[in-house]
Amino acid sequence: MRYERPTTLKAAAQMLAKEKGQAFILAGGTDLLVRLRTGFIEPDLIVDIKSISGTKAIQKTATGFRIGAAVSGAELGENAALKKAWPGVVEAANLIGSKQVQGRCTMTGNLCNASPAADSVPALVAAGAKAVIVGPKGKRTVAVEEIPVGPGKTSLKKGEIIESIVLPKRAPKSGDAYLRFIPRSEMDIAVVGVGVNVTLDGKGVVTKARVALGAVAPTVRLVPEAAKALIGTKMDKAALDALAAACSAACSPIDDKRGTREFRIKVAGVLARRAALIARKRAGGK
Ligand SMILES: Cc1cc2nc3c(=O)[nH]c(=O)nc-3n(C[C@H](O)[C@H](O)[C@H](O)COP(=O)(O)OP(=O)(O)OC[C@H]3O[C@@H](n4cnc5c(N)ncnc54)[C@H](O)[C@@H]3O)c2cc1C
Repeated sequence: MRYERPTTLKAAAQMLAKEKGQAFILAGGTDLLVRLRTGFIEPDLIVDIKSISGTKAIQKTATGFRIGAAVSGAELGENAALKKAWPGVVEAANLIGSKQVQGRCTMTGNLCNASPAADSVPALVAAGAKAVIVGPKGKRTVAVEEIPVGPGKTSLKKGEIIESIVLPKRAPKSGDAYLRFIPRSEMDIAVVGVGVNVTLDGKGVVTKARVALGAVAPTVRLVPEAAKALIGTKMDKAALDALAAACSAACSPIDDKRGTREFRIKVAGVLARRAALIARKRAGGK
């Protein structure tokens, strides 16, 4: 097994594209190293991206935020401007693992590990985040929801690396939130996760919304019907009932030891209501 630590994205993409055996990108390693040590994978090449310029940076830009692919959960939590603009995204990323895991784990790794229960992904999808991808054929930008295509599978092609995640500029009176249900108080995999992102007008009426669900389908699911239930309302009881019903209807979960199908379907609606109210409060609504 070869370990490489290139300093440019071009060199990293070339190494990955040329490798004939199994090649993996290493960001924080909190998924990759576990899979390696438990024998699920036997890489021929590991390309560590942490020395590539820009991968450890969080930048506020004219169009929002650019978060480098190797930025850890802890670094996200320490960035006051990002936390103020996107508290839901940061709280979702900060739920990953423990203090030790936070020092390493990245949102890009969480996305590319392609677990349906990945905590940061519903919040990123609700935020309308995009992934900037660099590969042998150049650069492309896609919506984050297009990256995971099934449990453990992504749409990334050979040699492609996500160099950053971009979050759009915030409109005034906007807020987001992420909630998950786990059987324990921490260090567990989401049984259901919900991300909600809303923008209000001066009267507190929702003008824009995005709602995404995790752990209730093979991939994180954007639920446009749930967003429609909120838009044009002040999130009264009828709107929240419609939101909960739309979220429950969008679930096609599995049964497992941590939650039955029925439980997941019900909890998706319950968490969506709660997350929507937190997002509204953060947007300055009452
Ligand atoms: C103790 C423990 C607790 C955990 N708790 C949680 C939890 O509560 N919630 C949760 O969602 N997850 C949890 N995880 C899983 C893991 O920590 C997260 O998925 C984390 O965000 C992965 O990030 P990473 O940078 O460590 O990824 P890595 O392990 O470095 O990479 C993960 C995958 O993504 C690929 N990859 C990484 N970066 C890129 C890139 N830039 N471009 C393309 N592909 C890339 C890698 O090749 C690999 O296949 C936990 C893990 C552990 C060990």
